[in-house]
Amino acid sequence: MADFEETLYDAVAQKFRIDKLYFENKTDHQHLMIFHNAALGRVMTLDGIVQTTEADEFVYHEMMAHVPLVAHGAPQHVLIIGGGDGGMLREVAKHAVESITQVEIDAAVVEMAKTYLPNHSAGAYDDPRLQLVIDDGFAFVRDDTRHYDVIIVDSTDPIGPGEVLFSEDFYAHAKTRLAPGGVVVTQNGVPFFQPDEVTTTHRRLARHFADATFYCAPVPTYYGGFMTFGWATDATELRGLAPAIIRDRVERAELNTRYYNADMHGAAFALPQYVRAAMQGE
Ligand code: SAM
Repeated sequence: MADFEETLYDAVAQKFRIDKLYFENKTDHQHLMIFHNAALGRVMTLDGIVQTTEADEFVYHEMMAHVPLVAHGAPQHVLIIGGGDGGMLREVAKHAVESITQVEIDAAVVEMAKTYLPNHSAGAYDDPRLQLVIDDGFAFVRDDTRHYDVIIVDSTDPIGPGEVLFSEDFYAHAKTRLAPGGVVVTQNGVPFFQPDEVTTTHRRLARHFADATFYCAPVPTYYGGFMTFGWATDATELRGLAPAIIRDRVERAELNTRYYNADMHGAAFALPQYVRAAMQGE
């Protein structure tokens, strides 16, 4: 049977056996593949890079949704940029929010994920609180006039259509779309192999937000150790909430998670020295 070899890095690569190919095609924006692997379940790739697998997606989606939503405390309006596979939407929909706006550039990712990765969205695309917009996330935040309590940037890596979502202009526009007390979180790669992403993102976020840092979680198929999530807000108190407050909010929200809990919430903001050094550009 054929193998899929990831093309993210020059010098190292991870390989997945394709046990069954469900879909492979060039969409209007990128090369999309969905296949089955005996160890990981269904796997989705875009332009040769692993996006999500059924086996480990819970780590990524739970940590990227619940950390900002629980820290905020009373989110009503949430904006998801990207996230076409639907996993982020599923986790956000567990919260008692009023509206969820999702802006995904590639309609084919949404459609194919609904067909071949149904456990990711788990019906959340039918949620009446959702407004799904097929558009470039950069253009959307530049032109939109509404405000959001939490903005989740569930993007591809900064190659291809996702590149603009790592630009300083994008962060500046995102800030204007935040309600007071709001927070932006971003997908920021694996710092062991992508330290420059930490340096660049930190520099760009710090120019616009009073608190710009990262938190982390290990997602096995994002090879190279734990990944970082960008955290940007002017509400500096959100990061250091007392553990008892987080525990109380998590209990009341009844999230039913497999990775996220109040202890992981607090621990995720502890950063090792090499990440702190990368933040300073060292
Ligand atoms: N968890 C994944 C990761 O870290 O690799 C991200 C998965 S999600 C599938 C990423 C989505 O971002 C894709 O569906 C892609 O089409 C979308 N995307 C890329 N660039 C975008 C843009 N400029 N605006 C909106 N969505 C974008």
